[in-house]
Amino acid sequence: MRKVNIEKEPCSECGGSLEKKYVSQEFERERVAVRLSGLLALVCNDCGDIYFQPGGADKVAEATNSLFELAITERQHKHQLTAQICQV
Ligand SMILES: [Zn+2]
Repeated sequence: MRKVNIEKEPCSECGGSLEKKYVSQEFERERVAVRLSGLLALVCNDCGDIYFQPGGADKVAEATNSLFELAITERQHKHQLTAQICQV
């Protein structure tokens, strides 16, 4: 998970081209997994590296932290908490 400034920029890992895709990301902490799905990101066609728009990675990190706090303090999870981003 890295930041990229320009959409047209090639993958910094392998130089492959990036494509806009909806992705899922799973994070684990203290035996709790949080899954975010429906995130718009740029994905490398060659190595599969995921890039978020500028500021996007920070927002994802913020959302993930909040979800972990919710899951860990409320203890209402069943080892996995899923957040879905949908367009309405
Ligand atoms: Zn790549």
